[in-house]
Amino acid sequence: MAQPDNLSEFDLIKQYFVRQRAGRATLGIGDDCALLTPSAGKQFAISSDMLVEDRHFFAGADPRKLGHKSLAVNLSDLAAMGARPVAFTLALALPQADRAWLAGFAAGLFALADAHDCELIGGDTTKGPLNICITVFGELAPGQALRRSHAVPGDDIWISGTVGDARLALAGYRMEQSLSAEELASAAVRMHTPTPRVALGHALAENKLAHAAIDISDGLVGDLGHILKASQVGATLDVDALPAGPILALQDTGLRRRFAAAGGDDYELCFTAPAASRAAIAALAITCGTPATRVGCIEAEPGLRLVDANGVALDLRLSSFDHFSD
Ligand code: ADP
Ligand code: MG
Repeated sequence: MAQPDNLSEFDLIKQYFVRQRAGRATLGIGDDCALLTPSAGKQFAISSDMLVEDRHFFAGADPRKLGHKSLAVNLSDLAAMGARPVAFTLALALPQADRAWLAGFAAGLFALADAHDCELIGGDTTKGPLNICITVFGELAPGQALRRSHAVPGDDIWISGTVGDARLALAGYRMEQSLSAEELASAAVRMHTPTPRVALGHALAENKLAHAAIDISDGLVGDLGHILKASQVGATLDVDALPAGPILALQDTGLRRRFAAAGGDDYELCFTAPAASRAAIAALAITCGTPATRVGCIEAEPGLRLVDANGVALDLRLSSFDHFSD
C-alpha cells in the first residue's frame, strides 16, 4: 500500500465521494441527513450488507473490485425483491486515508452505481479496521415485492445465470482444488465482481411472473431453504439441471454437484413461478440478457429432496454458510 496521506475526513469525502452532477435525491451528501422522496405510487425497498476484511474478502484485496462487490451484493438484494435501485449510503471504516486505495474503490463503486443509476446520498467515514457497509434504497409498486414467503406447491424453481464458479475460485485460492492459472482467473471473476440481476428481478416483479425470490449468497440449498421455510412448503431440486459456471462445468461430477448446489457468493436469483409463466420468463431472460434455468419444483411435502438427472435421490451432505457456526 502507498504511504498514508494527511487527508482530513471531510477532504476525503469531498474528493472521493461527492460528485459534481445533479442527482435524484431531494438532498444529497452534506447535511446531517439526505432527503429522498419515492416516485409517485412507489414504496422503498431498503437493505444493508456489510463487507469485513478477512471475513468477506482477503486483506490487500483490489480496491476497485471491492468497490464493485460492496455495492453489487446490496443491489442483488434489491434484485431479489424486484426493486429498481435509487440510492445508497456508504459507511466506511478505513485503517488509513490511502489515496490510491480510495481512488480505486470509488472507481469500482461508481462504475456499478452509474450502470444502475443509483446515487450515493450519504454515509459515515471513520478510522478503523477496513469495513464497508452499504445501505441501498430501491423502489417498487406496493404489492409487487417478490417475497420469500410466497412460493406455492406446483411452482417451478428457477435459477438465473450460473452458480458455483465463485466457490470454485475460493477452493482454488485455498489450494483445495487444483486449477490452472487461467481457470482460477476466470472463476475468480465471479467471486470478485458478481453481477446483480437487477433487470431480471425487477421485470419478474413488475410483470407479476414470479411468486417468491431470494438471491443466492450463502449457497443455493441454504437460500432456497429460506424460501421453503417462509412459505411452509417443500421442494425437489434436480442437481444435475443446475447451471454450473463454465469452469465448474469442467470439474468432476461430485464437485460440480456440491459447488453448484451449495457454493455461495453466487449472487444469482433463485425464484419460484407458476408453470403458466414459463414462456414469459424465457422471453424475459432473453430481453434482460440473463439466462434462466428451471431446476426443480415446489411441493406441499416439507423438506428439500435433491435428485440427479434420472430422479434418483442424492445425498450430498451439504452445509450452507453460516457466520456463527463455522
Ligand atoms: P455527521 O457528523 O452528522 O455524522 P459527517 O461529518 O459524518 O456527518 O458527514 C458529513 C456528510 O458527509 C454527511 O452528509 C454524510 O452523509 C456524508 N458522508 C460521510 N461519509 C460518507 C461517505 N463515506 N460516503 C458518502 N457520504 C458520506
Ligand atoms: Mg457521521
